[in-house]
Amino acid sequence: MSTEFTLDQVKNQIRNIPDYPKSGIQFKDITTVLKQPELFSFIVNTIANIYFDKGITKIVCIESRGFIFGGAIAAKLNAGFVPIRKPGKLPAETYKKSYQLEYGTDSIEIHKDALSSNDNVLLHDDLMATGGTSLAAISLIKNFDVKNIYINFLCELDFLHGRDVLKGYEVTSLIHF
Ligand code: AMP
Repeated sequence: MSTEFTLDQVKNQIRNIPDYPKSGIQFKDITTVLKQPELFSFIVNTIANIYFDKGITKIVCIESRGFIFGGAIAAKLNAGFVPIRKPGKLPAETYKKSYQLEYGTDSIEIHKDALSSNDNVLLHDDLMATGGTSLAAISLIKNFDVKNIYINFLCELDFLHGRDVLKGYEVTSLIHF
C-alpha cells in the first residue's frame, strides 16, 4: 500500500459543486481526484487492502461512477466484476428493483446469471447519500442467496444517515462528509 497520501488529502481534492444537479444538492465531484494517477491508485489499493483477506469472489458495482474504481479493485482482489445498471442497459435477462435517490427515483437491474450462492460479494459505489441505491442493490444481490455481502464507498454523506438503512451489513467508507 502506498503511504504517500492520506485520506484527508484525497478529501481535499474532491470538488464540491453547489446546487447540482438541482438546487440544494452539494454534488461531490470526484473527477478532480480521478485524473491524478497517484491518488487513483492510492484509492484502489486502500479499498483492496480492506478486503484482501475476505475471500471476495465478485465486486458488484453500481452504474456509473461505481464502475470507475470497481474494475480496478476487482483486478487487485482477483475477483469478478458484476455491473448493476440502469433499466434497459443489460442485454440478457435481469432482475429489477426501483429505489429512491437523493434527487429523484430510478430503477436498477442485474443479470439473472451474474452471481451464485457460492459468491462472497463486495458491493461498491462512489458515494452513499441516503443509502437508497445501495439498499436496492442489496435487494438485487439477495436474489442469489450469496454467502456474504460487504459494502464499500469512496465517500459517505454522514448527515444523511444512509448507514442506518444498511444496518446489519459491514460498511466501510474512505471519506466522510
Ligand atoms: P443514495 O441512494 O441517496 O445513497 O445516492 C447514492 C447515489 O447517488 C450514488 O450513486 C451517488 O453517485 C449519487 N449521489 C447522491 N448524492 C450525491 C452527491 N451529493 N454527490 C455525488 N453523488 C451523489
